[in-house]
Amino acid sequence: NDAAPGADRIAVYQAQRDQAYQRRIRLARDLRYAPQYRELSVVFQPKLDLASGEVRQVEALMRWKHSELGVIGPDEFITLAEQTGSIGMLTQWMMAAVLSQLRSWIDHGIHLQVAMNISARDLDDPAFPQRMERMLRAQQISPDYLSLEVTESAVMRDPQRSLDSLLALRELGIALAVDDYGTGYSSLATLKSLPVQDLKIDKSFVLQLADNSDDAVIVKSTIELAHNMGLKVIAEGIENARSLSWLKERHCDVAQGYFISRPLPAADLERWMAETRGTFV
Ligand code: C2E
Ligand code: MG
Ligand code: MG
Ligand code: MG
Repeated sequence: NDAAPGADRIAVYQAQRDQAYQRRIRLARDLRYAPQYRELSVVFQPKLDLASGEVRQVEALMRWKHSELGVIGPDEFITLAEQTGSIGMLTQWMMAAVLSQLRSWIDHGIHLQVAMNISARDLDDPAFPQRMERMLRAQQISPDYLSLEVTESAVMRDPQRSLDSLLALRELGIALAVDDYGTGYSSLATLKSLPVQDLKIDKSFVLQLADNSDDAVIVKSTIELAHNMGLKVIAEGIENARSLSWLKERHCDVAQGYFISRPLPAADLERWMAETRGTFV
């Protein structure tokens, strides 16, 4: 064997890189057909109002089950969709799915506000707010049933450009939240200039909240500062009872996490709500 030392390892590395590349190409292509192949679905995760102990809001999260490759996580396919230009199509699919679920809930006397995630690309599209308005009107749903979550990094990428879309959405009466707060580089002062009402603290600060004093300090001061600025605070990633009571004691407004419930299909969520109402107070 006259190959250079390390050549085997380089070959393995290249093979892995090729595989990852092939997967990306395939997923990017198949994602475009996912709606018509009925591979997409929506799950809903309850958001617990800590003052009342009631669930009045849920977050809608997209799921993709590829017919051959199985479940693909949103962290993989949403990023890919953003890079390959199919995110606009996915957002529209999601919006239609969320609104039709909302319509059905309202018809059955279930009144939940649904939060949907949108990406930076959606805010770049000047027609986006109008499209939202048209779709809401077509389903005869009041805009206050809808909330949009935009990540901190998406807003901060180009705050001035995002601002026009955010203002138009807010003007329509749609609630706006900054998602994954703390992972970007924005100051609360910058956020103050945006028409958002809710701040979602990223789960990386919440997961070990009860055992990590650094996280505790960050979350505590974020809650206080946000409240002083008139923002409501949502914590995501509550995985145990101690984090939940810690947040309640510090007057965090809303809590979301596996300890309360995993994201669920609509029918399971309805059952969960009927069974557990009030259990978490
Ligand atoms: P996100 O908007 O920050 O959503 C919260 C994520 O945390 C979800 O992951 C949720 O399942 C997960 N989570 C909730 N509670 C816990 C917990 O207690 N512990 C842990 N470890 N995780 C928890 P998911 O569903 O995998 O989504 C990941 C990200 O993908 C979302 O983060 C969002 O940025 C994006 N995403 C999901 N659906 C959509 C969509 O329809 N459109 C867009 N643009 N992005 C989406
Ligand atoms: Mg979110
Ligand atoms: Mg988040
Ligand atoms: Mg996230």
